[in-house]
Amino acid sequence: MNCDDALDKLTDHHHETLAAHDAVAVAEHLGACGGCAQAYCRLQAQLRGIAAAYAERPSTPVRASLRARVKAEFAPGPVQRALAVLRRPVPAYGVALAAAAPLIAWLAIGPVDSAPEPASDRFQPPAPARIHDYDATVPLFDRSVS
Ligand SMILES: [Zn+2]
Repeated sequence: MNCDDALDKLTDHHHETLAAHDAVAVAEHLGACGGCAQAYCRLQAQLRGIAAAYAERPSTPVRASLRARVKAEFAPGPVQRALAVLRRPVPAYGVALAAAAPLIAWLAIGPVDSAPEPASDRFQPPAPARIHDYDATVPLFDRSVS
C-alpha cells in the first residue's frame, strides 16, 4: 500500500468501516510511514474536536429559550429603531435639511398676511407728473439770445 491509498482510507480506518485485509494494510502502513501516521493523528484530533463541539452544542429548546431571552433583553424598542434610522450616515440628510431651512424659517416666522391694508394707511405713490404749456413747435433753446 502506498501513501495515497493509505490517506484515502484513513477516515474509514478511523471509523472501522474497512474490510479486515484493508484495515491490516493501513495499520501496517501507518506503523511504517511517519507522514501518514502524523496525518492520521491530525485526522483523529479533528474528528474528536468535531465530536466534542457537537456534544457541547445546546439542545434546540435551550437555544430557542436563550434566543428569546437575548431578544427580550437587547432588542431595540421602537424609539431606538426610529433613532437608528435617523442616525444612518446618509449624506442626503444634510442636503434635505439645507433645502428645508427656508421652509422652516417661513413657518417659524408665519405666513405673510396677504389681506389688503386700509386705504388710509397704504403708501400713496405720487401723482404722475403733468406737463403744462408744452408746445412742440417752440424750440427748446432760444438761439436768438446771445
Ligand atoms: Zn505513507
